[in-house]
Amino acid sequence: MRLQSSSSVTRSENMRRIRSKNTKPELIVRGALRELGFLGYRIHYKKLPGRPDVVYLGKRKVILVHGCFWHGHNCKLGTRQPLSNREYWVPKIECNRQRDARHLAELTQLGWSVLIVWECELRDRPALCKRLAGFMGH
Ligand SMILES: [Zn+2]
Repeated sequence: MRLQSSSSVTRSENMRRIRSKNTKPELIVRGALRELGFLGYRIHYKKLPGRPDVVYLGKRKVILVHGCFWHGHNCKLGTRQPLSNREYWVPKIECNRQRDARHLAELTQLGWSVLIVWECELRDRPALCKRLAGFMGH
């Protein structure tokens, strides 16, 4: 009984995390963009599919920051799935992946350039900045 209630607490915390805005990975990316001088972005832009995290309207560029676990990245962080509640996590993550793919296709079709930055790619800041600058066209 105790175990059950503690795992449901964890689940709701995780649910909050996925819905929450301004997650740490997003803040890192936005900080890097500001440092590089790419200002004037909109965040969680409602008028585009999936409310992209960072949007440059004039340049028609979108940057998506994905947490590895929730978005099912094929990396160490993303494949570290909890053993408990697998019947919950596995379909949930698969559903997120499909949704991400759909949003990506829709954005591309609408003529937007899309860069996906994964959580696990944030540690190497010089590499991150290089990618961001390359994407933004500098
Ligand atoms: Zn990853």
